[in-house]
Order: sequence, then C-alpha cells, then structure tokens
Amino acid sequence: MVQQAVPCTKTKINATMVQLGCEVESMNILGLVVFAIVFGVALRKLGPDGELLIRFFNSFNDATMVLVSWIMWYAPVGILFLVASKIVEMKDVRQLFIRLGKYILCCLLGHAIHGLLVLPLIYFIFTRKNPYRFLWGIMTPLATAFGTSSSSATLPLMMKCVEEKNGVAKHISRFILPIGATVNMDGAALFQCVAAVFIAQLNGVSLDFVKIITILVTATASSVGAAGIPAGGVLTLAIILEAVSLPVKDISLILAVDWLVDRSCTILNVEGDAFGAGLLQSYVDRSKTPSSEPELIQVKNDMPLNPLPLTTEEGNPLLKPYRGPAGDAATCEKESVM
Ligand code: ASP
Repeated sequence: MVQQAVPCTKTKINATMVQLGCEVESMNILGLVVFAIVFGVALRKLGPDGELLIRFFNSFNDATMVLVSWIMWYAPVGILFLVASKIVEMKDVRQLFIRLGKYILCCLLGHAIHGLLVLPLIYFIFTRKNPYRFLWGIMTPLATAFGTSSSSATLPLMMKCVEEKNGVAKHISRFILPIGATVNMDGAALFQCVAAVFIAQLNGVSLDFVKIITILVTATASSVGAAGIPAGGVLTLAIILEAVSLPVKDISLILAVDWLVDRSCTILNVEGDAFGAGLLQSYVDRSKTPSSEPELIQVKNDMPLNPLPLTTEEGNPLLKPYRGPAGDAATCEKESVM
C-alpha cells in the first residue's frame, strides 16, 4: 500500500497558526492514478518492447474480472449481512432509509437532468439538429440498457440503431461506440460523486473544497476504469472513498440499492456514447465540401445490351465463356487452375 505521509508543520505568521500539512493514513490514490497514466504512456512509447507488459496487464485485468464475476454470485448474501450490520449499528433506522431514499432520488434526478437536458443541449449546440429525434431513434437500446444494466450488452443493438435510424456511418459508429462503452461513463461518474457525498454525510464527515475536487477528479478517472457490466461503477467507487478517507465498507449500502440506480446510470452511459457518434457524424458531414465530392458525369454507353462474348485469347486466360441454358455467353466462369 502506498502511504501518504506528510509531516505536520505549523508556522506562526502574525500570531496566526497556519497548518501547512498533516499526516494522512490512507492510500495515495491520486498518485497511483497519475502514475498509471504516465506508465501507460511510457509503455506505449517503448513500442514492441512494451507489448509484453501491456499483454500481462490485460490478462491480469481479465483474470480479476473473472474473479469478480464469481464473487458477484455471493454478493446478495454478503450485502444482506453488511446492510443488516449497518441497520443494527444505527440508532435511528428510519433516518437511514430516508437518507437512502434521498440518495436514490438525487441520482435519478441528476441522471434525468444530464440525459434529457445537458447532453441534448450539447448535441444541439454543435449540430443544430433536433436531439430528441436522435434520442427517439435509440429508444430500443436505451430500454435494453435499462433492462440489462450493462453498456457492453447494449453495444450491438446501439450500433444497429444509430446506423439504421440515425444515419451514423458504420466506420464512425464501430469506432466510437466500443470505445465509449469502455471509457465514457457519464452516469457512473455522476452517481459515484453522489455516493461519496452520501457516505460522507452518513458518517458526519464534512467535505472541504480540496476533498470535493479530489472526488471529482477520482470519479472521472474511476468511471473510465469501470467495466460496462452491472455494478461495474460500484467496484471502482472504492477508489474514490479511499482517496478522501471515507469508510469503504459503507459501499454495501450503495450496492443494496444499485439494482435501481445502475439502470438509469447505464442509460446515461450509452446515451453519451450515441450522442458522441452523432456529433462526429455531423462534423464529418459538414466538413465534406461539395468540391471534395467527385462529380458524377453521365457517360453515353453505346455498347449493345448483350455484348459479344470475349474469347479466352482476348480476355483473362483463367476465364472461359460460360454458355447458359439458352446458349448465350453473357457470363464467365472461372476455370479451375488445379
Ligand atoms: N452498469 C454500468 C454500465 O454497464 C456501469 C456502472 O455500474 O456504472 O455502463
């Protein structure tokens, strides 16, 4: 574990005690995140020499995911006992349920504002097109996201709908949507911030400006690392709680209600990706000037409808004229070279 150990220093300036730093007994998450990013860039710079280590980390990540999927089978029993212990600890259980209700409401409201106002507004500002018509085209994948709570499971349907209903080109949708389903998680980042504030309030911890900024930065980074599977964001919530020294075991409360919050969260995650693809499509459409399009010139074709068959000497020696049942030689057949 990497420890942040900054010695406490106090300086006296005009009889005012100013605290310059103090020892923090927790993991230096921000340091780890920055190191991971810089290390990744360095590995890429190494080229083929760095690929071995990249493959090692990829396999390590896949194996961890398999372990997590096994552990998730025991999650209901684990959550039951964790929440039960929390309820026993609480003096006022009613208060806990009211706070949990407010947490759910806050997440759903935040997701609704972001998904129905902020994202459509950004799309409208950049494309000048009706964002709600775009949303209507991806209604089926949004319903799938709600039902499955998984961006990865929604990906194939989302590709189909943005291509067929919203006119996004295949090369754009097949580039943007898989990347988006892995790294772009607006919904996860939003709910993780709310969850961190909820846990802080539950424990009576006040959040100063620095802690709020830390929550914002780590939530952005951890949502990028969250997998597009049910409860993927809850797993990386531990990073944020560690970063601001909040009790990680309180995640059990978030997990208990995640079956509902995760649905709206996943809708927002996939909606952001789709709008991203739509935005890029509109940019590509606009950057295509009429002069860059080759003009179609009508060419007069004097050839008869049934041209005379080419002899093998004139044409490809591997092709011999094929005489259909009517005896015409309109098509050619490939000769076996064997
Ligand atoms: N379930 C979400 C998704 O698949 C991830 C999350 O838990 O935030 O996008």
